[in-house]
Amino acid sequence: MKTFFEARRPTLTFEIFPPKGTGDLDSIFATVDALASLAPDLISVTYGAGGTSRENTVEIASAIQNSYDIPALAHLTCVGCTRDELDRTLCTLAEKGVENVLALRGDLAEGDTLTDFKYASDLIKFIREKHKFNVFAACYPEKHVEAKSLREDITYLKNKTDQGVDVLISQLFFDNAHFYDFLETVRAAGITTPVVAGIMPITSASQISRMVSMCGATVPEAVQKIIRAYGHNSMAMKEAGITYATSQIVDLLASGVDGIHLYTMNQPDIAKRIAESLRGIFYSLRVKRG
Ligand code: FAD
Repeated sequence: MKTFFEARRPTLTFEIFPPKGTGDLDSIFATVDALASLAPDLISVTYGAGGTSRENTVEIASAIQNSYDIPALAHLTCVGCTRDELDRTLCTLAEKGVENVLALRGDLAEGDTLTDFKYASDLIKFIREKHKFNVFAACYPEKHVEAKSLREDITYLKNKTDQGVDVLISQLFFDNAHFYDFLETVRAAGITTPVVAGIMPITSASQISRMVSMCGATVPEAVQKIIRAYGHNSMAMKEAGITYATSQIVDLLASGVDGIHLYTMNQPDIAKRIAESLRGIFYSLRVKRG
């Protein structure tokens, strides 16, 4: 029998983040409403990413799963959580019918600590021993910022997938060549897990410099040119960003990528533009692959 993931390949998934603090969830549900109308294969909800909230991930993921009937993927991190706290969160997710978890070490912000689990692989081992989730994990086409080399990072990635990872989702990248080289190295290292490509449409010059400093993605000349030409005009920059991301995805799909994970930045209008222009391509690839 085909797995959840194989049955939908190539997948189109969206990522959202909870609003800051414990406040009002209306805005995020308006975002989910708009994204749900695009019938994605899954919507993922971050957990404390880039200093954003850890409070509402479970509640939002549960609503996506139960009220919208779209598979939800709850991100979970080792940062700031003990084994017991993570266990309780996993039990709650299971009770609420969420079947997918993205197991991460997490971003270490000031004051954050790692207690029982030091690496994502430790959390994955724990989930596999005690729970029954589809386990997703992160990977980095241009290496993780803390890793000494891509080779070292992939050695640890192999260790992580050996704990039982169903799907890898990549960090964002702007140059598909990095993704293809990474995929080749990963397969040569004996990692057979499907790898979904993480794509973030650029919408402003400040957004790109924030992302680059956070994750170390290379900004190719084509993107630098777009920023030089359109960076001063927010409407033109947004249009160019949507077009660039769409062309990255067209190329990835033509190259047989397992799936596309769109970092929506809670901007459903952008996701809508991209998803609608690619609808025919996704349809034809799914029909072809049966
Ligand atoms: P790991 O796989 O544990 O790797 C972390 C570092 O440790 C790497 O440099 C790796 O090479 C190294 N390493 C791994 N194992 C070992 C070992 N045994 N010995 C020595 N070194 C080792 N962050 C959030 O806080 N919340 C989110 O919701 C979130 N969502 C994300 C979604 C995606 C798709 C991606 C790609 C990232 C996301 N992040 C999120 C960011 C992520 O938490 C950070 O990049 C974090 O720094 C690493 O997490 P990881 O799970 O990849 O860590």
